[in-house]
Amino acid sequence: MDILNLSIKEIHDQLVLKKTSAVEVAASFIAQSKKTDADIKAYISYDFDAMLKQAQTVDEKIARGDETSLLAGIPCAIKDNILIKGLKATAGSKILENYVASYDAHVIEKLKAHDVLFTGKTNMDEFAMGSSTENSAFFKTKNPADTSRVPGGSSGGSAAAVASRSAVFALGSDTGGSIRQPASFCGVVGLKPTYGAVSRSGVMAMASSLDQIGPFAKTVEDAKIVFDAIRGKDPKDATSMETKIRNSKFEIRNLRIGVPKEYFGGGIDKGVKASVEAAIADMQKAGAKIIDISLPHTKYAIAAYYIIMPAEVSSNLARYDGIKYGHSAYHDNAHDTLETVYRNSRSAGFGKEVQRRIMLGTYVLSAGYYDAYYKKAQQVRTQIRADFEKAFKQVDVIATPTCPTTAFRFGEKTTDPLAMYLEDVFTVPVNLAGLPALSMPCAPSKGLPVGLQLIAPWFGEEILFSVGAQLEHASE
Ligand code: GLN
Repeated sequence: MDILNLSIKEIHDQLVLKKTSAVEVAASFIAQSKKTDADIKAYISYDFDAMLKQAQTVDEKIARGDETSLLAGIPCAIKDNILIKGLKATAGSKILENYVASYDAHVIEKLKAHDVLFTGKTNMDEFAMGSSTENSAFFKTKNPADTSRVPGGSSGGSAAAVASRSAVFALGSDTGGSIRQPASFCGVVGLKPTYGAVSRSGVMAMASSLDQIGPFAKTVEDAKIVFDAIRGKDPKDATSMETKIRNSKFEIRNLRIGVPKEYFGGGIDKGVKASVEAAIADMQKAGAKIIDISLPHTKYAIAAYYIIMPAEVSSNLARYDGIKYGHSAYHDNAHDTLETVYRNSRSAGFGKEVQRRIMLGTYVLSAGYYDAYYKKAQQVRTQIRADFEKAFKQVDVIATPTCPTTAFRFGEKTTDPLAMYLEDVFTVPVNLAGLPALSMPCAPSKGLPVGLQLIAPWFGEEILFSVGAQLEHASE
């Protein structure tokens, strides 16, 4: 039995039956990180000492016969834009290179209450802006499925940690696809919860009306266990709310699956299309009713996202001013004015992509352009949401590819920001509408992982878990 490949429940069983100990589990995952991570580079920092100490506490609890959570003693990796008190949180940026978090994110408080083991903080595109993790200010992360290729982004490190088996699960954040796209590229499961299902308190804000925290895991059941542990109302995030759990089982044979024609048109890789269509054919064989639908405003989603997101970015990132947090140019020249301290700190601290988005965002919000860009984009957002509302009157779940391509090679899209932005074409509509969506592996194409994206109505995560698990078992 290889502990590294076991699911959360399987490790839990081993622990409570005392076939292994949490310290042994921790040691196996530390050894695995040391073996794989010199090459993969999923992590910006590790937390092995604390991990072993926490494992001891779990073992003591088990020895005493205390009731333990399913997640007790399970190693998990955390994206470096989510705060763990006392640990560095860089968000992949030079401006926060030495920043140490002074409090726990709400999701971390929750995971700590379950006695999970934190393996470390994972690499990411700077402030979660990107689709390949190549925008990290520190280094590139490799895709464990093919190390000549990117792991996707922006949560590339979290996806790579789970795929390379140095963590059982990981947390990431998804503003326009940053959980689902790297999950799809690395061949793991990724969930973007309904907007509001998980508190954003303690995740560094990128675009607050779009951001959600969610899990990466090897199996759909593991993703569900983690989601159940982190979701819920948090007074520190006014947009968070309790999820109504509908414990009904959604059998594929009773479901209507919507297939939007806009997600299978030009620009999509042939192999990706074939493998997603095969997964849909499997659902049909299992008795589901496949219904062709249309989400006509899909074509405007990227344009609207790349106006709304930078607008929120330009406002959220104003706090990194060289005074409140992180890198400051102040000490370089004590005679500087406040404005030059701001300018110099931000020019030196932020990378190109972040600067590009701050400028775009400031522009679309400026007097004279606000109505033409920002207001228009918000109107498009309403239309995109309405498309989904209409579709969900007809179908229970929507099936699409997660991304138009499989993992691409390093450098392939870095010189052309627009080509990189197009990676998000199937994921951003879901964020704009605030819906939950799961990416899970379907048949590989030319040896590379392909993601099937399942989209459910608001707070319909249970449908995703149910359908996802049935598909997973069907393919075993
Ligand atoms: N790739 C998208 C972007 O660059 C999504 C990022 C994200 O979800 N954090 O904006």
